[in-house]
Amino acid sequence: MALNYDEITRKYEKYIFQTYTRQPIAIKSAKGALVTDVNGKEYIDCVAGIAVNNVGHCHPVVVDAIKRQAEQLIHVSNLYYTENQALLAQELVTLSGMDRVFYCNSGAEAVEGALKLARKASGKKEFIATEHAFHGRTRGALSVTHKEKYRKPFEPLAPAIFVPYNDADAIRSAITSDTAGVILEPIQGEAGVIIPSDDYLKEVREICDEKGTLLILDEVQTGFGRTGKWFGREHSGITPDIMTTAKAMGAGFPMGAMLAKEEVAANFVRGDHASTFGGSALACAAALANIEVIRKEKLVKRSQDMGNYLVNKLKGLKKDYVREIRGKGLMIGMELSIKCEDIVAKARDSGVLLNCTSESVLRFVPPLTITEKQVDTVVSVLNEI
Ligand SMILES: *Cc1c(COP(=O)(O)O)cnc(C)c1O
Repeated sequence: MALNYDEITRKYEKYIFQTYTRQPIAIKSAKGALVTDVNGKEYIDCVAGIAVNNVGHCHPVVVDAIKRQAEQLIHVSNLYYTENQALLAQELVTLSGMDRVFYCNSGAEAVEGALKLARKASGKKEFIATEHAFHGRTRGALSVTHKEKYRKPFEPLAPAIFVPYNDADAIRSAITSDTAGVILEPIQGEAGVIIPSDDYLKEVREICDEKGTLLILDEVQTGFGRTGKWFGREHSGITPDIMTTAKAMGAGFPMGAMLAKEEVAANFVRGDHASTFGGSALACAAALANIEVIRKEKLVKRSQDMGNYLVNKLKGLKKDYVREIRGKGLMIGMELSIKCEDIVAKARDSGVLLNCTSESVLRFVPPLTITEKQVDTVVSVLNEI
């Protein structure tokens, strides 16, 4: 017998750490841009597991790849070679403009790897990060995450200084002889979809080159077509020294990677870093299928087109509480003059899942496969609220 909503949530209250504020629905299944709860109610998903399900939920090519791989080989550790790791590494290096890959299982882990690598490569200790940046919750990643509420109880953290985002000169002034690297999101996600000016990343790249400082680009949220490019860096044409990715990488299967240019990567030698699960045969199969689907279905271009379509529709909403709508591809923020909690609840009742970030920004990061008709429904639901 399947558990009903009350039975499920009672077990959560009794047995699970109370670290999340969850929406009051229990999800049972999902397909494409639709998810279904345990009562059979359907929702159009504009959250996509927080920018994870870029190819849509349970895409048949991904499901098939996972099934076939699971029957053949799930995990053997990094004590051995597997074909999948080799094939995926070649794809990732080609897509990212980096030279080498280190496999891990999440965004925070990718950031940990990046910070360790920059620390070792530079021989220096301090990182420069940006105000409102989010890089994950493990202690290293937390040390370059800005939010006071997340940091305070866990101090002391690793040394980091924060400068305003979208201010290249602030980075120039902050770099000292102690600086190990600069870490940035190409578009700030958790901060509320903050898009920097066109030349920001280029200027930061130039400053880092001039000062001999490593540039780490955190592409955990902006990767795999989310912003209308394979990676967010392409909007400014720069290549970082180190790059992190995760979220959409495995089409929902936990997967992350830290990538670097050869000169930097060479500083990590045998024994310097490791992960038991990193790049399991199963995770790599999911990631390879993910890339195949994005390519075959031209989802990078679709992200651009549907992003423009959704932004234009949202701009047509006549709501006095909308302050700004901004986005690149299907990474879109609608900043409100009020908190968005009530709107999220009302949209959910009307069959649309939305996410609120930074209290007053509605974040739209749906599957890149979302249809025009589904977008129209989302906007008409918002219009009726
Ligand atoms: C989500 C996110 C992370 C953390 O990823 P986890 O998989 O939750 O550890 C790091 N950086 C950015 C930019 C993110 O959006």
